[in-house]
Amino acid sequence: MAHHPVDSVGLPLPEPSWPDPPGSAGVLEPVRRLCNTVNREVGADAWRSLDELAGWLEREHWQVPEPSGSDLEALREIREMLWRSLRDRRAEELAPVAARAVWRAAVHDGRVHLVPGGGAADMIAAIVTELVRDAQRDGTWTRLKTCEHCGWVFHDRSRNRSGRWCSMAACGGRAKARSYRTRRAQSPTNTT
Ligand SMILES: [Zn+2]
Repeated sequence: MAHHPVDSVGLPLPEPSWPDPPGSAGVLEPVRRLCNTVNREVGADAWRSLDELAGWLEREHWQVPEPSGSDLEALREIREMLWRSLRDRRAEELAPVAARAVWRAAVHDGRVHLVPGGGAADMIAAIVTELVRDAQRDGTWTRLKTCEHCGWVFHDRSRNRSGRWCSMAACGGRAKARSYRTRRAQSPTNTT
């Protein structure tokens, strides 16, 4: 059975990797986990305060500076834009995230490297846009989707990429039951 922890006000916040095992989204795993810090069905949010955000960044092993209040605001916006981009399948939604990304060049071990710079939100914007670019190149970007029922971000493993729900059991069944009830209610031959 799926494990459902709650956020700091007691709203159910599903385990971030549910229903797929951790790591199943490949290079996009950090994007999936970042988007899934909010439960859009019930309004649960793992980032209600700066302390919660700082704790989350540490647990998720983001190597970024201590976040500030403006980082919290910026990261909530980045999360929303990422989610909308996935829902609408529009990279344009990510333009503000890309614009925020800070890169600096560094030289070590005889090579030039581009490394994320700036504060916590700038660095995360840089890392996330790089992950999206890589996923667009290898074609895995279109496998990351938002559930049509609950908005949860999931990795579509179906061969023809036709998945619409985070889980058939949790959301596919509910969506089908709802459309069945709607059809029955609208049917002129419904005599029961
Ligand atoms: Zn769902």
